[in-house]
Amino acid sequence: MAGIDTALADVRRRIAVASGRSGRTDDVILVAVTKGVGIDLVRAAIAAGVTDFGENRIQEAAPKIHAMSGIEGSFLQGLYHEARWHMVGHLQRNKARKALELFDVIQSVDSLRLAADLSARATAPLEVFLQVNVSGYQQKYGFPPDKVETAATEIATLPRLNLTGLMTIAPMTDDPEAVRPAFRRLRELRDRLNSLDIPGLHLRHLSMGMSNDFEVAIEEGATIVRIGRAIFGQRA
Ligand SMILES: *Cc1c(COP(=O)(O)O)cnc(C)c1O
Repeated sequence: MAGIDTALADVRRRIAVASGRSGRTDDVILVAVTKGVGIDLVRAAIAAGVTDFGENRIQEAAPKIHAMSGIEGSFLQGLYHEARWHMVGHLQRNKARKALELFDVIQSVDSLRLAADLSARATAPLEVFLQVNVSGYQQKYGFPPDKVETAATEIATLPRLNLTGLMTIAPMTDDPEAVRPAFRRLRELRDRLNSLDIPGLHLRHLSMGMSNDFEVAIEEGATIVRIGRAIFGQRA
């Protein structure tokens, strides 16, 4: 698994360089996105110190997450149990209960009804982010920016949900600079929401930036980057 150790080291170095360049001293959390990636590579990533993982489909995530929590008798067992799993893809409401069993963070809350279902079914505090469609491109999921204040105000009142951040998926492009305005808009939106002193609401996180554009996202304030291909290679 030397391949992923090298790739991870390179990604971490690039994260550090981008942070330094933008004068940041806070830590950027690396979420390794493991869709299309087998269990052995997930284990290798955990052994290499990755603590946070992302998946975008319940069906694919369930066996992987169960394989990690079921492991016994390995010196890595503790690390497997401590791994945090982030749901980063669209979540259908009829899968809310399953998602609650599997994930520590739901980054992709994209409707009030989904938030209400998660709140009603949760048996413990759950960290959630609102997915926002800031890019202006046609995207299927995510709140439009002008709906986020109302949604955040309402979700902040829901029992057991801790709304701690905003997430966005930038449009695919070969030019990372083309997505900078979208990342900047998400940061401005978070800062504005925090300045409104909405009861129960403080947004710490900006989850933005993927393999193609994470350095630009960090320069624009990402606290979480979600990276798949740059760590695990091109998906089949
Ligand atoms: C696949 C995926 C990622 C990672 O994308 P890469 O280009 O492989 O880094 C990040 N976020 C979401 C929501 C994804 O679906």
